[in-house]
Parts: sequence; C-alpha cells; structure tokens
Amino acid sequence: MNHKNVFYPLNFNKPHLTGKETEYIIHAVSSGHISGNGAFTKKCHTFFEERYGFNKCLLTTSCTDALEMSAILINIKPDDEIIMPSFTFVSTALAFVRQGAKIVFADSCKDQPNMDETEVEKLITQRTKAIVVVHYAGVACNMDYFIELSQKYNLWLIEDAAQAIDSFYVNQTGQKLPLGSMGHLACFSFHETKNIQCGEGGMLVINHETFKKRAEIIWEKGTNRAAFWRGEVDKYGWVDTGSSFLPSDLLAAFLFAQLEKIDVIQQKRKTIWNLYYEKLKNLEKKEYIKLPVLPEYATNNAHMFYFICKCDMQRQELINFLKNQGIWAVFHYQSLHKSNFYEDKYKGKQLPYCDFYSNSLLRLPFYYDLSNEDINQIVNKIHDFFLKSH
Ligand SMILES: *Cc1c(COP(=O)(O)O)cnc(C)c1O
Repeated sequence: MNHKNVFYPLNFNKPHLTGKETEYIIHAVSSGHISGNGAFTKKCHTFFEERYGFNKCLLTTSCTDALEMSAILINIKPDDEIIMPSFTFVSTALAFVRQGAKIVFADSCKDQPNMDETEVEKLITQRTKAIVVVHYAGVACNMDYFIELSQKYNLWLIEDAAQAIDSFYVNQTGQKLPLGSMGHLACFSFHETKNIQCGEGGMLVINHETFKKRAEIIWEKGTNRAAFWRGEVDKYGWVDTGSSFLPSDLLAAFLFAQLEKIDVIQQKRKTIWNLYYEKLKNLEKKEYIKLPVLPEYATNNAHMFYFICKCDMQRQELINFLKNQGIWAVFHYQSLHKSNFYEDKYKGKQLPYCDFYSNSLLRLPFYYDLSNEDINQIVNKIHDFFLKSH
C-alpha cells in the first residue's frame, strides 16, 4: 500500500480484538446470567488466581473502582495521609481523596518515571496510612524496599498495577514475582488503552487475609450476597458500606476472550516495543532523545512506548510535526500536585523530576495491530524531524 498520497491516520491507540469476544458475549446472554459475578466473571478470577498466584481477585468496572475499594478497605479517617507518586493518573489519588485522605506526593526517579523510593521514608508521619506504588509503563517499582518500609512503619502497601499485567519483579533472592502479588491490595485496569481490555474494566487483587471477606461485601453493595450464594449464611442483607463495583458478566465474557490470548498479545506487543527501541537508538546516541530505562529488577510488559524529549517546546514541535503526517503521539501525566484540583491543598516541596517527565515524556502510537510498515513510517518521520531540523 502506498501511504504517500493518502491521509493515513495512525491513532495513538486501537483496541485489539482476539475474535472470540462476541461469541462469549452470546454465550453469556444465552446462559441467562448477564448481571455480575456470573460464570465468565468466575473464569476470569480463576485465570488470574491460577496464572499469577493472586490470593483473591474481584473484577470491577474499572481500576478507579478497584482503587476506591482499596480506599474503603483500609478505613481512612480524616487527616490520614497516603503517600504516592505525583506522576500518575488522576484516579490513583482521586480514589483516596474521595474517602477523605490527604495525599502526600513523592517525586519520580532521576532516570525513570517511577516513584523514587529514597524520597519516601522522610514523608512518613504518625498519620501515614498507606503507600501506593504505581508501576509506570508496567515497569516494577523497587518492591523489596517498599515491602520493608511498609513493615517497618506498619503501613498498608497498595499497588496501582493498572498498566502492569503480566509484568514481574525480581526480588533480592532472585524470585520472579508478578506485579500485583506483593502489595496487601493491587488494582488492575482493563480499559481499552491497556494490554488486555474490555472497554472499561478493572480488578482488585486481595493478597492479605484481613480484607478477603470484607472486599466481597463492599463489592456487592454492602451485602453478604456472595456468602449467601455459597450457602455460608441463610439470608443476605446489609452488613457494611459498599457500592456496585462488579461488572456485568457480558464484560467478563469479553475480557475472558482476551485473557485466553494473553501470550499471543504480549509476544506481539514486545516485538513492537523492541522494534521501536532498535530503530530509535541512534537518536539517543546523538543525544536528541532518551529511551526508557529498565531497572535490573524489572521486566518489560510492553504496555507503552515512550521517550524523553529535551524540553516541553521540542516535544510540542515534534507532536505537531507528527500530527501533520497523520501520526498521533501524546503526552501525559500532568503533575498531580500542580493540578487545578490539588494545587492549593499541596503543602509539600517541589517535585522536579515529576515536572520533568510531565514536560518531556512523549508516547508513540502503540497497539497490537500496528504493522512493521506503520512503525517504519513513524520512526522515519521522527528521524526526519530530528535530523532535518538540527
Ligand atoms: C489506566 C490507569 C488507571 C485508571 O484505570 P481505569 O480502568 O480507567 O479506571 C489508574 N492508574 C493508572 C496508573 C492507569 O494507567
């Protein structure tokens, strides 16, 4: 195909379909159970519990919901503080703010956007209740350090693993542990921009025994309905706070079709990631950009491809340049401590590395159906931009 004379938009994301999604939705419809916690929901739970050894899983309608469930489960009281990175999606903070917590933002690392563990201990006070780590781009945070810190100060450790499906952390003893298995609670996203998706979806992983019973109740509108269905109680009723956090089994059916193909999806995404990396290396050598850095304890699940530009202005010029060629590159996140919503509430110090990534990180189109031809086209345009304008 000749791309030269046609407007050929390369979107930033394009949700991939494995082919079985509608078939499984039809199964769910004809089974007569299309509300939550049906057969496909259970299949998804079992998939995760068996493949990753997660203690207990509950599908939710989003990762935001899973984070909200976490905030309810840890019993936040007024003035409780939660430590988390400022370089993250709004939901990480919003879920805890809604329960009345004060957010204490930590800076990113110098060489990569994850929260800098060496900045965290000095932020702990009498009121600190939990640390929320975010595995940005599916790259693990330094979990040995965070586990130790949470034990030392008796804090809850929560993983925002929204981007981290099928990614791992290699611990001090060389064990390869799945992200989402190390925090007391962990939250995943199946939003259409994630590796495995069902449009809107998420999951809470409960790794700590204390939360197991109560999580199920909060999930089902504050009732003990799940225990009732298992025959553990003879009637169900209102026993706690909660909401309707469980997704319809139609969504679980869609999700299960994706999960069955997780290895194929991951393989393809890693190939795309490596191709980008190889083809952009020479621009890093010439010091135009910086490519992602992976700590030795982290694996790459090819959630996204990003690189670091010199500055805000250069990034905007590149975005405009690519947009004119029909290529959508995007940036995120804007430092949460400087957001309209949180700026006046923020009393902490400057977070220069977070601001740096806010101003310089650029994400390239990244999805399963991106062809080699597409990648070549994108990379060639990026080369044109740097090599012809410098
Ligand atoms: C996508 C994402 C979320 C939100 O996920 P939803 O399923 O859309 O609610 C939260 N945190 C991070 C780090 C994310 O990337």
